[in-house]
Amino acid sequence: MAVTSKAKMYAQGLQFYYGDFKALHDIDLTFEQNQVTALIGPSGCGKSTFLRCLNRMNDLIPISRVEGVIALDGDNIYDPKVDVVELRRRVGMVFQKPNPFPKTVFENVAYGLRVNGVKDREYLEEKVEQSLRHAALWDEVKDRLQDSALGLSGGQQQRLCIARALAVEPEVLLMDEPASALDPIATQKIEELIHILKQQYTIIIVTHSMQQAARVSDVTAFFYMGRLIETGATEIMFTRPRNKQTEDYITGRFG
Ligand code: ADP
Ligand code: MG
Repeated sequence: MAVTSKAKMYAQGLQFYYGDFKALHDIDLTFEQNQVTALIGPSGCGKSTFLRCLNRMNDLIPISRVEGVIALDGDNIYDPKVDVVELRRRVGMVFQKPNPFPKTVFENVAYGLRVNGVKDREYLEEKVEQSLRHAALWDEVKDRLQDSALGLSGGQQQRLCIARALAVEPEVLLMDEPASALDPIATQKIEELIHILKQQYTIIIVTHSMQQAARVSDVTAFFYMGRLIETGATEIMFTRPRNKQTEDYITGRFG
C-alpha cells in the first residue's frame, strides 16, 4: 500500500471481530492531512465499526478484538504503550445524535480542558470562544454561555459538540453521520463547517447520504459487508467507479 508522506492516518490489514463475528476484513485505507474522507455503504457494512477503530472507541466493547495496524503519524495506535486518553484527544469524535452534557454552553466546551487540568479562567474563556467560533456557533450563543446546552436547537447542539471536540486541539476529527438527525438547513451548516475545518484538520465522516459524500469529501471509501470495495477521489468514485458493486450502490440499485 502506498503511504505518502502526507498520510495522517492509515489502516493496514485491519481485521475486527465482535466475538466470533468478523465485522471488518483486511482493510487498507490511508487518510491524508487536510482532506475529508467519506465512508459510505449500506447499513451494517461496518462504517461505524471502522470509524471507532480509529480512536479505539471499540476498546469499550469487551468481546471485541482487533488485528492489524492503525497508525497516526506513523505510530501504531494499538501499541500497548499508547495512552488511550491522549489518543482520543488527538483523534476527536462527533456522534450521530448531538449529545451535549446537561451543563451550560460554556461548561460543555470547557469540559475537555478541565479534564486535562486547565484551571486558568482567562485561558478557558479564550479557548471556549475560539472553539465556538471555529464551530460557527459563537454569534448564536455568545449571550447564552451560561444557559443550559439542552435549550439549544438540534443543529446548534451538534455544532456545540463539534466545538467541544475542537477545544482540546485534536488533529483528526471523526464524524459518524453527524447531520442525520438534523433538518436541511442545520445539515447545510454542518457541511459548510466541514469545508472550513478541513483546512486545519483531517476529517473522516460516515454518511448514508451519497449527495453529502459528494458535496463534502475529497476521497470516498465504499464499504460492503465488512470489506473495503473501492476507494478513490470522490469525483471519480461518483462518475466512473471501477467496481460494479460501487456503481450499483451509488446509482441507488441497493442500500
Ligand atoms: P454501519 O455503521 O455501516 O451501519 P456497523 O459498524 O454499525 O455498520 O455494524 C457492522 C456489523 O457489526 C453489523 O453486522 C452489526 O450488526 C455488527 N455490530 C455492530 N456493533 C456491534 C456490537 N456492539 N456487538 C456485536 N455486533 C455489532
Ligand atoms: Mg453506523
